[in-house]
Amino acid sequence: MSEGAQTPMKGAVRDAINEQIKHEFYSAYVYLSMAGSFGVANLPGFAHWMRRQYEEEAGHALKFFDFLLDRGESVQLLSLEGPPHAFRSPLDTFEQALEHEKEITSRIHELYDLSVQEGDYPAQVLLNWFVTEQVEEEKVATEIVERLRMADDDSAALLLLDRELGER
Ligand code: MG
Repeated sequence: MSEGAQTPMKGAVRDAINEQIKHEFYSAYVYLSMAGSFGVANLPGFAHWMRRQYEEEAGHALKFFDFLLDRGESVQLLSLEGPPHAFRSPLDTFEQALEHEKEITSRIHELYDLSVQEGDYPAQVLLNWFVTEQVEEEKVATEIVERLRMADDDSAALLLLDRELGER
């Protein structure tokens, strides 16, 4: 280690975190697409909830971004694919959101495994926060999916849920 420089990160961990920044921004993109779809469907509460989710995901991306900068590493932003934009119903939308979160959870777990293999303790501390956050994300998405299943085709129940989600 050269004097006056920070403890270097392993390249594999750095590259995986750069990749995760992309996945968090992609999550933001997915939720913004969902917000747009709810906006068009005249469900402003659902749209508001999704917009907050979009902001939260951009915040996750920035947590990883700042972590790389704090470690003296360079950030390489990667290209994003277009998000899905065909949603058949509020239930379909939230089912897709839940599936998406499950995929993110497995990515976070893989990243955690890598940071253990590479002996990167600061990354493990950061990832502890994300492990907990993913439990919350899946819990909340599951609750909304279950409630939309209960509401079924009852538009009064749907409008009530719309009002509630608008208070987020
Ligand atoms: Mg996230």
